[in-house]
Amino acid sequence: MASTYRGSCLCGEVIFEAGNFSKEAAACHCTMCRKFHGAAFGTLVTVSHFNWLSGVQLLGNYKADNGTVRTFCKKCGSSLGFRSEGGEFEVAIACFDEDIPVKIDAHIYTANKACWVEPDDSVPNHVAGRP
Ligand SMILES: [Zn+2]
Ligand SMILES: [Zn+2]
Repeated sequence: MASTYRGSCLCGEVIFEAGNFSKEAAACHCTMCRKFHGAAFGTLVTVSHFNWLSGVQLLGNYKADNGTVRTFCKKCGSSLGFRSEGGEFEVAIACFDEDIPVKIDAHIYTANKACWVEPDDSVPNHVAGRP
């Protein structure tokens, strides 16, 4: 049994636990991730173990025209998760309250990157999704 790690939204009402992280965690520069996270890029990771521990009644889901669903806290607006159509749930890793064994290993959809950020780490950049 792998360790589990706790995360929460900004107001603290939504709490979750997750474990069994994918080895792949990308910084996604697509326009939708930028807007959903209110940030230069979104950082999400797939997990095979996930439970909401509290605040389920506050969860909102935004389904976009392309079938992707983004989950957020309706009280504080925190971006919590993402699911592509038919895909696995991915957690917004910025919401963890403790260190997790995850490192960003790629920048994806850099064709949509904001002009005001230049990633200068050593991980690969991909203009669209992972090749
Ligand atoms: Zn909240
Ligand atoms: Zn994205």
